[in-house]
Amino acid sequence: MINIIGAGLAGCEAAFQIAKQKINVNLYEMRPYIKTGAHKTDKLAEFVCSNSLGNKQITNASGLLKAELEFLESFLLKTAKQFQVNAGDALAIDRELFSNEITKLIEQNPYINLIREEKIEINKDEITIVASGPLTSQNLIESIVNLTEEKNLAFFDAIAPIIERDSIDFSKAFIQNRYDKGEASYINCPMNKDEYLKFYDYLINAPKIELKNFEKDAMFFESCMPIEVIAARGVDTLRYGPLKPVGLVDYRTNVENYAVVQLREDNLAKSLYNLVGFQTNLKWSAQKELIHLIPGLENANIVKYGVMHKNIFINSPKVLKNTLNLEKYENVFFAGQITGTEGYTESIAGGLLAGINAVKKLNNEKLLSFPSTTMLGALTNYISYRGHKTFQPINSNWGIIEPIDLPKAQRKNKKLKNELLANRSIKALKTMFQTV
Ligand SMILES: Cc1cc2nc3c(=O)[nH]c(=O)nc-3n(C[C@H](O)[C@H](O)[C@H](O)COP(=O)(O)OP(=O)(O)OC[C@H]3O[C@@H](n4cnc5c(N)ncnc54)[C@H](O)[C@@H]3O)c2cc1C
Repeated sequence: MINIIGAGLAGCEAAFQIAKQKINVNLYEMRPYIKTGAHKTDKLAEFVCSNSLGNKQITNASGLLKAELEFLESFLLKTAKQFQVNAGDALAIDRELFSNEITKLIEQNPYINLIREEKIEINKDEITIVASGPLTSQNLIESIVNLTEEKNLAFFDAIAPIIERDSIDFSKAFIQNRYDKGEASYINCPMNKDEYLKFYDYLINAPKIELKNFEKDAMFFESCMPIEVIAARGVDTLRYGPLKPVGLVDYRTNVENYAVVQLREDNLAKSLYNLVGFQTNLKWSAQKELIHLIPGLENANIVKYGVMHKNIFINSPKVLKNTLNLEKYENVFFAGQITGTEGYTESIAGGLLAGINAVKKLNNEKLLSFPSTTMLGALTNYISYRGHKTFQPINSNWGIIEPIDLPKAQRKNKKLKNELLANRSIKALKTMFQTV
């Protein structure tokens, strides 16, 4: 018997994977008795916001993850495809029909025992998958904190956008640390007074995303204050805060600029950079325009926009293995958004791996982990990487996958590069499962 807490996207996928192997599952779901604030129905695997699972082209990072899930026989992906609606390159679905179907299949499955109650305790001696999502109930949060032993449950209110290094114009940006301390690692985008005032003017007037009621009482951590909230305190506040120019004399011109936007490495491969202090709740279109006003970032490719909502995730780099179980309590698995992977498809992927591994644990078999040449492996290896200094949720993107060596002339050919990366991933899966 395996327990699963939460019948969302990760929990339902895990339940199907386990039932497929003819093993009994207790699947706990607290709705409709306890609500999350975002879910609107009592159905399982509900899509809380948009109806899109992202791009379906294999040359897109999210598309590659879907191709991998298809290879690994994901139940939810297969069902999503049955209920897809026209959405160009994206896999968008009729959410209602999808959730109705998943609920029906779970209720009819002889191996799955759906229990409509809030699970508040985790028994570390029983094989359990915690898939309670970003809106995990308060009682369960307390049990998770107890189990992980330190305050490993992180809450965040706003995060900063992430961009691709390749899209930065280095004729304007320069690499240097403040006061030249240590090995230069920050990318700096300098602004003169006119550029700063134009940027500021756009920022304070830019449209914001409407907060949901349950998010309105969210307290900001001072270090996570949205940039638009800081800016509203006064025209120069940012120049004494995240955009301060002091100590950043541009070595090429010997000039200390009026303001400087700093970018910090976001991944080991140094292909992704986050904008320091730019956590924001602006609408995505406004974020794009704002970032493109920054000298050097006029053509920046934004791989992840800043977002703000209540979100709960464990400090996976400290406690989780890439097999999705806890280092300390190996019977306890985590899956879905609570592990720090973000997005519908990513949650399904986590559920799939946790389901497969929970069965292996039950059978005393070696657990499965994926190489970083696959998107699923890149995600699980990223969240369980012990070297993170700060950790924020991540979705599928090319920056986390193991790079490929291309002849210089072909390096800028993104489509070709992504095609090669995608082929390499599927080949890796085929090899892995042939040997298994
Ligand atoms: C407001 C909001 C909007 C989002 N919008 C998008 C989007 O547009 N696109 C996208 O790709 N991603 C989005 N996400 C992120 C993420 O993809 C979804 O939250 C996704 O549903 C996460 O899947 P999950 O299985 O981890 O959690 P969920 O799908 O949330 O499932 C968790 C389940 O656990 C249940 N549960 C919680 N605590 C307990 C307990 N103690 N006992 C029993 N049951 C419990 C919940 O009721 C829920 O059914 C959004 C997240 C939020 C919070």
